[in-house]
Amino acid sequence: MHNVNILVVEDERNLANAICHILDGAGYHAEAFYDGREGLNAAQSGLYDAVVLDVMLPRMDGFEVVHELRRTGNSVPVLLLTARTATTDKVQGLDAGADDYMTKPFESAELLARVRALTRRQGDVVIDEMTFADLTLDLSTHELRCGEKSVHLSGKEFEVLRMLMGPTARVVSKQDLLARVWGTDGEASENSVEAYVSFLRKKLAHLGSKVQVTTLRMLGYRLEVFENLGA
Ligand code: CA
Repeated sequence: MHNVNILVVEDERNLANAICHILDGAGYHAEAFYDGREGLNAAQSGLYDAVVLDVMLPRMDGFEVVHELRRTGNSVPVLLLTARTATTDKVQGLDAGADDYMTKPFESAELLARVRALTRRQGDVVIDEMTFADLTLDLSTHELRCGEKSVHLSGKEFEVLRMLMGPTARVVSKQDLLARVWGTDGEASENSVEAYVSFLRKKLAHLGSKVQVTTLRMLGYRLEVFENLGA
């Protein structure tokens, strides 16, 4: 049983973040990449259960990405996003090997229905927990465990950690955390992100975890494992 990871490839960052926010809210773990080539590399990592792929992308368009995936034998389900309603786009997308397509703009309910259908084809997966190094995060109870110890995370702490844990534990910027965890809450600022990261650090220290949240100046945060720390 594992968390269902969705790759979102869309160069309009606001839309990419909004899609991730919708998917996260429905219990998926979504991660965004902002150009076709990075998206292709991510899709080829094997870490994702489905891909939401925009057609119009810099460096490599969505058709080329899905064509390249299929050419190399990668069968990850792909939902293509197209801004146009032209039938040729749909045909071209499906011909290239996409499983489904959706025309922008779309309602969140439609996105979720299509993603549910795509991931169901892979077999039903129960979303229950995520792991990173010595940490296990329970996605239903928000309990964070390390060895024999556990702590309960508040809603925001949980969402921030879930983003940092992601399938690749890559660098996540404050701006992306703000957009993804706080959404359209205009009261929130980068100070809110810093505050919750500091709460998380205290909890990780309390657990005696080898995992730390490190700050990369100007870039954001990343989880790192320090083998000589902890019990
Ligand atoms: Ca685009």
